[in-house]
Amino acid sequence: MEDIKYNRILLKLSGEALQGNHSYGIDPEFLSSLAEEIKKVADLNVQLAIVIGGGNIFRGVKGATQGMDRATADYMGMLATVMNALALQDALEKKGLKTRVLSAIEMREIAEPYIRRRAIRHLEKGRVVIFAAGTGNPFFTTDTAAALRAAEINADILLKATKVDGVYTADPMKDKNAVKLDKISYKDVIVKGIKVMDSAAVSLCMENGIPIVVFDVRKPGNLEKVVKGENVGSVVEG
Ligand code: UDP
Repeated sequence: MEDIKYNRILLKLSGEALQGNHSYGIDPEFLSSLAEEIKKVADLNVQLAIVIGGGNIFRGVKGATQGMDRATADYMGMLATVMNALALQDALEKKGLKTRVLSAIEMREIAEPYIRRRAIRHLEKGRVVIFAAGTGNPFFTTDTAAALRAAEINADILLKATKVDGVYTADPMKDKNAVKLDKISYKDVIVKGIKVMDSAAVSLCMENGIPIVVFDVRKPGNLEKVVKGENVGSVVEG
């Protein structure tokens, strides 16, 4: 048995994680390599649930700034996450994994409805569970959905996959004086406005004692290292 630090994991993938080098939508090659990384972790016999975003297709805020009703735009955003969930399911099953998509908005023809106990049962049976449609409510984000689902399924950890290798004092893509923080408290993230996840998501994790690991998912092997408790990325806790 391999040395695994966490048994039940909630992985938050943003829509951008499926986008690869494309400016919009899904990059099938990139998605396939991401699925390979996820398989390495699933093969460690950890229970893995994934919340997928939709920003590579549609974001509610963007629709609202273009004059659309915010709630309507947010529902479109949630539908985008369902498309991503199906794409991810397809990619994971091509790698031989067993998966289930559970949607917070009922669409029985394409996904199971989200039922907490059913999600846990799937995890216990070794299926990778993909949560689609965020929380099912407008004015939320999939980061908040990730924190919510992590709490509901009693996840040991929330892994926030990003394009940077951790939490920095400023945006490292814009500020070259930005310093990486190995560890930071929930409170500091909220008070200092550090962009890890939105504050609702961070608060939920704080209230439920769920540590968040922020790491670069594009680096091969990183996801596996995080799951094994190796020092990758930054941890938000305490
Ligand atoms: N969304 C929502 N409620 C939720 C989750 C998502 O209304 O519980 C909508 C919101 O419009 C958001 C879009 O779905 O902009 C896509 O999700 P998000 O922006 O979180 O995706 P990511 O940034 O992770 O790709």
